[in-house]
Amino acid sequence: MGRVPRMADALERLKERLGEVTDLGKATRILSWDQQTMMPPAGTGHRADQMATVQRLAHERFTDPEVGRMLDELRPLEESLDPDSDDATLIALTRRDYEKAVNVPASLRAAMTHAAAEARPVWVKAKTESDFASFLPSLERIVELKLQYVDCVANGAAERYDVLLDDYEPQTTTAEVRALFEELKPPLVELIAELRERDVDDSFLHGDFPPDRQRALSHEVIELFGHRPDSWRIDPTEHPFASGAGRDDVRITTNYHPDSLESLFSTMHEYGHGLYSHQQPKHLERLPTGGPCSLGIHESQSRLWENLVGRSLPFWRRFYPRLQETYPEQFSDVDLARFHAGIHAVRPGLIRIQADEVTYGMHVMLRFELEQDIVEGRVELRDLPQRWNEKMWDYLGVEVPDDGHGVLQDVHWSGGSIGYFSTYLIGTVASVQIWEAVGRDVPELEEHVGAGEFTPLRTWLGEHVHALGSKFSPQETLRRATGSTIAAQPYLDYLRRTYA
Ligand SMILES: [Zn+2]
Repeated sequence: MGRVPRMADALERLKERLGEVTDLGKATRILSWDQQTMMPPAGTGHRADQMATVQRLAHERFTDPEVGRMLDELRPLEESLDPDSDDATLIALTRRDYEKAVNVPASLRAAMTHAAAEARPVWVKAKTESDFASFLPSLERIVELKLQYVDCVANGAAERYDVLLDDYEPQTTTAEVRALFEELKPPLVELIAELRERDVDDSFLHGDFPPDRQRALSHEVIELFGHRPDSWRIDPTEHPFASGAGRDDVRITTNYHPDSLESLFSTMHEYGHGLYSHQQPKHLERLPTGGPCSLGIHESQSRLWENLVGRSLPFWRRFYPRLQETYPEQFSDVDLARFHAGIHAVRPGLIRIQADEVTYGMHVMLRFELEQDIVEGRVELRDLPQRWNEKMWDYLGVEVPDDGHGVLQDVHWSGGSIGYFSTYLIGTVASVQIWEAVGRDVPELEEHVGAGEFTPLRTWLGEHVHALGSKFSPQETLRRATGSTIAAQPYLDYLRRTYA
């Protein structure tokens, strides 16, 4: 056989192998989705075993020396191809992931998955009872394994935290994120100080909101944004997230709190994540390049639908009558202008996922800083609640009454996700850049939103962001979509324009 057919054969074998690994990864996602939505609580032990096994199999299939040999064999092909082509980007991405993964023993991978699945119910209970001490042993185990993981792959990283960040925001360094956040922090602190004293009435957003009507409204809003019912589901959960197994199996979740409208905004948020999955490139399905680019880019999609669409006046001109019909007790006496001002109230609070757009960034910076302290050993885990509370006071002037509303509020650490949080703010900042890029190409964007016509927006996002999958780095993806890598200024200008 000649050289080219042999290489073509190696490429086919690599794609077959990556298809298996992708399938196993998606199976884990469904197991995790089920754990968080359907599984009887006592099933945790079974589920931890199942997830650890699937994760170990995926890891073994991927780090098999045979994959390394295929990658070596494919080097000449990769070098002969257009670097932007599907095959060249696939080989490059696989090589990058392989070189990282091959340093991690399958037993450690499985132990991390097992510890996380076991920790979840412990965290749920600790959060409900506001009892950090009962969660501490689980957290210690998770952090211990995470630090072992860092030891395995830290080779050459400028900072240990880089290794963890790279799992969520590939090819992005802690120093780059720190620089972005340092640019954001002073103007945000200034804006919060300016706006926090302003008296905005949002009392109508709290009250009695029967969950069955919230559920109907959540379904209505994703129908309006556009989805195929045969490939989407919404289910309730403790901490909303989006999951699924691919383009035609999109699963979003929400939380119908009986005393607030939070579920509506979280549904719009998770819709953005779901749409990203739904519009991933079909021809790259079952390949790593066909998946999402990074969590930051993922979050740019959710924040775009939640904030740029979901808090905009054009959207509410269209949707507010439906809200008034659904909850006449709350909204029949509230006009659109008052409602719109109410959903833009700036009020430093305790909970990140309930935070307004202006204070949101400070919640993320707090976690980003604490996580670096954990990884660098600058904080004892038992002291986390106190450090958390001090930072909440310093950044937002908020006193934390108990750990359930403080250090225990987020699911991430219980799931072993350390290094994740900064992607929320990266995505939020990028969402404004993307929105402005859509506006340049689709000048009637606001009219479309006001008319409930979302096809042009969905199509633009599909073509300029979703279709790229993870062929390129997050910054390159953003540059291709908007003409610029991440920049603080458009976001800061948007906040000032919208709020001040
Ligand atoms: Zn999100």
